[in-house]
Amino acid sequence: TAFAQASPKYPRWIRINALKTTLDHQLKTTFKDFTRVHAIGEVSSAVSHNLYIDEHVPNLVAVSPGFEVLKTSAYKSGAIILQDKASCFPAYLLDPRLEDGHVIDSCAAPGNKTTHLAAILSSRTVVPEGPPPKVFAFERNGHRAKTLENMVTLAGGDEIIDITPKQDFLKVDPDAKLYQDVGCLLLDPSCSGSGIVDREGLPPIHLPGLTGSAGLKPERNQNRKRKRKGDKDSGPDEQILVDDDGKQTVITSEQELLSRLDTLSSFQFILLQHAFKFPSARRITYSTCSVHSQENEEVVVKALQSDVAKARGWRILTRDQQVSGMKEWPVRGSVDAAHGNETIADACIRTYRDDGRGVMGFFVAAFVRDGSLASHDA
Ligand code: SAM
Repeated sequence: TAFAQASPKYPRWIRINALKTTLDHQLKTTFKDFTRVHAIGEVSSAVSHNLYIDEHVPNLVAVSPGFEVLKTSAYKSGAIILQDKASCFPAYLLDPRLEDGHVIDSCAAPGNKTTHLAAILSSRTVVPEGPPPKVFAFERNGHRAKTLENMVTLAGGDEIIDITPKQDFLKVDPDAKLYQDVGCLLLDPSCSGSGIVDREGLPPIHLPGLTGSAGLKPERNQNRKRKRKGDKDSGPDEQILVDDDGKQTVITSEQELLSRLDTLSSFQFILLQHAFKFPSARRITYSTCSVHSQENEEVVVKALQSDVAKARGWRILTRDQQVSGMKEWPVRGSVDAAHGNETIADACIRTYRDDGRGVMGFFVAAFVRDGSLASHDA
């Protein structure tokens, strides 16, 4: 595909799909000729077959970018899934347990996190009484819902995942009987996508959501005057935003950028407030592939201050309450953007492109209520 030529500084992150296989089996088969290395830099720079087992997220490996994953039978059968490391954080941080009840993936297509949630649930061993929990996956866009269905089938999640295509999560009634036992929600809404592309405008990784030719060439306004150093009336540096289908747009004026971020963050805030209303919900993760604090820490702070959050006792899941691997992740939120609240900033997990960790720009935070689920692994 167009993405076979990933920028060499980015490794290929591969999630081992526990619904279909194990890490051990993949090490002995798909990756049998690989040399195990212990620093991500050794994978990113090498064209040879090096493999790194991630230290933060279970069942995740990185391999040298030259490796043609798409040609492997493990990829074709859904046993391994191309998924950036940061994109594995939300489901892992949500840490759903069988006893928590059902899980909702509110904005699900193409299904990376949906299938990750199902894999986590399937690997839990203590089975409580009653029917096993499901993952309810909602996707508003019909075309993308089809992609979701295909991915779920390929990944082997049919039995656990219940897809409602063309369903706007905001129109799902939190008090409906079907959702009474929803304990966890994953919110990964549409965002500016500003964390996805690198300086050359290329996605560092293969994203199944990026289809066709979308994603490679940002749309450029050919008549636009190029910004020159010292231009008095020039706007901010060019910003490339990426929509849900991978279409890139170059934003050249600060006003346009702020207006886009404003629209997106209003929607993200409404989505979070809606999630807060599910009666049995105890945990929620909120994530974006944006680097802009307007869509990240600022949404989190605003959500915590909302009436519904206060009325229903939602708090931030603090760093020390997070699952192991996530609390050790060193890059945290911005204190300034969190209105000076260091606890909230430290609870927020960030990633940045180009910082040598080999991941795209991303943000995730978790909300919790009622002490019982606050510290799963503590
Ligand atoms: N979680 C996905 C994954 O990891 O594969 C990526 C999700 S993508 C960032 C956001 C998705 O949410 C898009 O497919 C978009 O169509 C969908 N979406 C946006 N608003 C929605 C809403 N109100 N209800 C349901 N889906 C929505």
